[in-house]
Amino acid sequence: MEQLQATPLSTDLLSTDLQSGASQKRPKGPAALTQGSNPYANLVTSLKATWLTGKTRPMEYRKEQLEAIGRFLDEKKEDILHAQYQDMRKPHFESELENVATRNEVNVALNNLCCWMKDEYVEKTPAMQLDCAFIRKDPFGVVLVIGAYNYPINLILAPLVGAIAAGNCVIIKPSEHSPCTARLLAECLPCYLDSDTFAVVTGGPEHVTKLLENQFDYIFFTGSTHVGKIIMSAAAKNLTPLTLELGGKCPCYVDDCCDFQNAANRIAWAKFVNAGQTCIAPDYVLCTVETQEKLIPCLRQAIREFYGCIPQDSPDFGRMVNDNEFRRVKALLNSGRVAIGGETDECDLYIAPTVLADVQEWEPVMQEEIFGPVLPIVTVADMDAAIAFIDCRPRPLAVYAFSCKSKVVHQVLDCTSSGGFCGNDCAMQLLLITLPYGGIGCSGFGKYHGKFSFDTFTNHRGTLLRCIGLEKLNTIRYPPYNDTKLALMSSTLEVRRKGFCAIL
Ligand code: NAD
Repeated sequence: MEQLQATPLSTDLLSTDLQSGASQKRPKGPAALTQGSNPYANLVTSLKATWLTGKTRPMEYRKEQLEAIGRFLDEKKEDILHAQYQDMRKPHFESELENVATRNEVNVALNNLCCWMKDEYVEKTPAMQLDCAFIRKDPFGVVLVIGAYNYPINLILAPLVGAIAAGNCVIIKPSEHSPCTARLLAECLPCYLDSDTFAVVTGGPEHVTKLLENQFDYIFFTGSTHVGKIIMSAAAKNLTPLTLELGGKCPCYVDDCCDFQNAANRIAWAKFVNAGQTCIAPDYVLCTVETQEKLIPCLRQAIREFYGCIPQDSPDFGRMVNDNEFRRVKALLNSGRVAIGGETDECDLYIAPTVLADVQEWEPVMQEEIFGPVLPIVTVADMDAAIAFIDCRPRPLAVYAFSCKSKVVHQVLDCTSSGGFCGNDCAMQLLLITLPYGGIGCSGFGKYHGKFSFDTFTNHRGTLLRCIGLEKLNTIRYPPYNDTKLALMSSTLEVRRKGFCAIL
């Protein structure tokens, strides 16, 4: 069983006791797992009971909790930066950006909650003109949010904001691979949020397995495609609806007609931010041989400008999260030829920003999501070949296309399928909160960010309120049936085609 590393962040803080569901002071760490018992059963039952009291439903309550998340982000900012640095030497700039993106989720929810929560009235057929028809925005109930390690604050708190905004009780389970941040969340967040309706569970796969033995009303998972399948199988046992935010290989097409230096800067930033451990990083570049020759010097220049001659000494370049990930990514360097970088230092979990040229599609680096600072370039004949290359692989989280010709960018957009798309840049679509974010196919399903998060955690409850009188009007649907009744019934229920003349 994983034990969270001791950190100097906090010593004497409240968290939810997993057995009783009550708040009490106790040392931090994953719950003890014993055979036969489920350490999370009482917690889930207690949250369910609270949810049934309706405590989480009023807008004011939701706003208080959202404000509390905002205070956590503001007041614990230094601790968050420190924890993320300890976990993966994440540069403060990158952690601050993650905080800003998370704060935006809080602010957008607070700014719009009143409007989002309102019943949405819908059009009615003639038969229902006297009735009231609307969509009620109901919470699901008790929600489980499971996070990945790479952006451990945002990947937990952004869904949490959506779940709370939608009026749910929530258990969050941060990744055990970012232990300092997980510990910070476990120790500090319960001091801000209502422990009747919210809890943090820490630990690894066996804790998730135990958690999933309980019945949740919604599961929101961020992580690998492989584990996503495990989560979906567990959810299927209880028919629990879920969102899967998964990974994959995001392709990046660079056209022959392009500002190569600008493209290289943008690709290099998105690829090497967080040492390549970004789900929407461009996984590989597709371009012609001629473009590869022009792009490589520009990538070299971008890397040198960003991280200096020795990226290992740069305070702005992160590290692989652990030994396993270091070894996995290092093994991928044996594909194609190393055009830039390629240095590694196991003691420091360092892999240099690396560009591999002339990579073949059958080589190891093209068989799995890279999730590290390694950028392969695969050469293709032209844009059509690039599109065909993308289309015969699992659908990715994002597709990127660089070209001076907007027609080319649109052609790639129109002819491929992915969770998101960005023309002439990479990863920036994620930072626009008004866009839905999520995958398709093997990169997952369901969308979130901003209003999309609220909708994800909301049961859109179709509601019709009829009047109990005027029974004569209803007799046309009751047996004994006849043709006149059918004609009347059909005409009052019918939805006509717009602009279609019924006389003709
Ligand atoms: P992971 O799948 O290994 O772990 C994610 C979570 O699942 C963790 O909390 C972990 O405790 C739990 N888990 C791991 N193995 C489990 C098992 N066998 N049974 C039950 N639970 C288990 O992912 P990771 O290594 O933390 O993150 C990297 C992956 O996540 C990459 O594939 C990346 O693309 C993806 N990711 C996707 C997004 C997105 O928004 N789509 C964002 C970040 C990361």
